[in-house]
Amino acid sequence: MVKTKAKTKATASNLPTRIGFGWDSHAFKTGIPLLIGGVKLDYDKGLGGHSDGDVLLHAITDALLGGIAGPDIGTLFPPSDPQWKGADSVVFLQEALRRIAAAGYAVANLDSTLILNAPKIGPHAAEIRSRVASLLGIPEDCVGLKAKTPEGLNNDNAAVAHVVVFLTKSRRKSPSR
Ligand SMILES: [Zn+2]
Repeated sequence: MVKTKAKTKATASNLPTRIGFGWDSHAFKTGIPLLIGGVKLDYDKGLGGHSDGDVLLHAITDALLGGIAGPDIGTLFPPSDPQWKGADSVVFLQEALRRIAAAGYAVANLDSTLILNAPKIGPHAAEIRSRVASLLGIPEDCVGLKAKTPEGLNNDNAAVAHVVVFLTKSRRKSPSR
């Protein structure tokens, strides 16, 4: 019999880099504002559901939390809790940023893909990237944003966001000795 070698347990804080992935979707509803990446877009429908429905900020928040293997957005801010009804999703993002900083990490870069039929994201992409960069405290050239239409998905009334983030050890926190 081959003996299993006892491995030294690697602590999470020893990782120099970490990756996080987030995904979210919301259905369009008439008569509410449309917020994507913290930017209000001029459109006759908005994204309903939990909080202000900002599908991109929710996916970014989950990606950040996932990067440090933290609890997800729905656990931290349950949709069933009335205090988060109509809430500004920037609050969720800031809590995720606080948690990654406390874990000793900073955001290096982010990439995202939005999937929605309308409105066209292209004309607003620069503004959304700029807003997300400023919320995360990273340069605009570290925020990727692509928009696709849901070809063949029979999904014309929803917006979906996929996000990956790359985290690096924060220089602000002194390394433990
Ligand atoms: Zn959401």
